[in-house]
Amino acid sequence: MPRMLSVDEALSIVLDAAPVLPFERVPPDEALGRYLQEEIRADRDYPDFDKSLMDGYAVVAADLERGLRPLDVIQEIAAGADPGRLETVRPGTAARIMTGAPVPPGADAILMVEETEPVPGEPRRIRPKSAVEPGASLARRGADVRAGAILLDAGDCIGPAEIGVLAACGRPRVQVGGRPRLAVLATGDELVEPDRVPGPGRIRNSNGPLLMALARRSGADPRYLGIAPDEATALRRLIETGLQADALVLSGGVSMGAYDLVGDALRALGVAIAFEKVSIKPGKPFTFGRSGRTLVFGCPGNPVSTYVIFQVFIRTALARMMGSPRPRPAPARGVLTAPFRQRPGRTGYYQARALFSGSACEVELLPTSGSADFVSCARGNALAIVPADVEALAAGDSIEILLLDDFDRR
Ligand code: AMP
Ligand code: MG
Repeated sequence: MPRMLSVDEALSIVLDAAPVLPFERVPPDEALGRYLQEEIRADRDYPDFDKSLMDGYAVVAADLERGLRPLDVIQEIAAGADPGRLETVRPGTAARIMTGAPVPPGADAILMVEETEPVPGEPRRIRPKSAVEPGASLARRGADVRAGAILLDAGDCIGPAEIGVLAACGRPRVQVGGRPRLAVLATGDELVEPDRVPGPGRIRNSNGPLLMALARRSGADPRYLGIAPDEATALRRLIETGLQADALVLSGGVSMGAYDLVGDALRALGVAIAFEKVSIKPGKPFTFGRSGRTLVFGCPGNPVSTYVIFQVFIRTALARMMGSPRPRPAPARGVLTAPFRQRPGRTGYYQARALFSGSACEVELLPTSGSADFVSCARGNALAIVPADVEALAAGDSIEILLLDDFDRR
């Protein structure tokens, strides 16, 4: 029997097989969760005029330094006013100015409203209560960003903040990596859809919705193909449909049972199987193959196995397809809160809670009844990775973790 592949070996095979999809030009609206494939530079200075940062009065700072005499208010400047059409502020005068409004010529500081008081009986005069430093409460042209500066790099994953940057730059379209079409097929005669009450011996299909949600969060465009029975012809027909997508993810039917028919069905359809086992716990019978440019992932049906296989392998493959320059998860470590034992042999990926405080990270392994314990996934935010040859870990030991909630950071 051939040696079982390690997780790293299997991951390298998956990544090498994953094609980078063609780039697309899309409106920023459609760019969320995708990988930028061009550099974004500032189209102008930001701000591109000297701008008030407060509601107050534009004044000549040196004028106030000489004494706090009343000032004539010569104009009122709202945000949006044309900077080319403002009156010059001279000693003895001030302009009422709002946050975001252009600073008029002559003025070199903004005195906050709170630092002024009206002169009784003289509606257009104010008295400063304090002096101000030159440059106070205003942003000079280009203070935030200079025209031409690089704001976003090729390869950045586009999250909400990046969408804001694209909007500020007025980009109508932006070049991003492709969005993989991913087909999801659950298999198993025991399954009923979640809106049904399971009859005797039946269970609800939780992996279908789980995989659809994971695919969406990973930036893919998922399509649900339903439940395939454990019967060769019907299974094959549904797999054929799935092979039209960029990736097909199946759950169930890849173990050693008499009704585990997925491997044979894939072979019958000409899928080139790269491996059918990985030294990982849970998830050992994970099957991976390729049909043309379509990747095929066969996850073991146990919900925790499906979850782990997606987080470790499928997410990484999708990131590569979407044009991420660093599809592998960033390495992270934490410190165990309690001792832990495993049967050595396979690399363990255990549901865990990573708790960050400052630069420290505490890792609590979550109690679980095993790979069918679908609730443990919902309680965790990380997988704790225990190397295959390690039998016992002590509280305080350092441990590698895979963070699960960083969907727009990879
Ligand atoms: P299998 O990999 O087909 O041998 O299934 C392993 C275990 O996972 C069995 O207990 C199945 O009933 C369960 N299982 C398979 N598919 C699903 C699914 N879509 N949702 C929830 N449990 C499943
Ligand atoms: Mg099954």
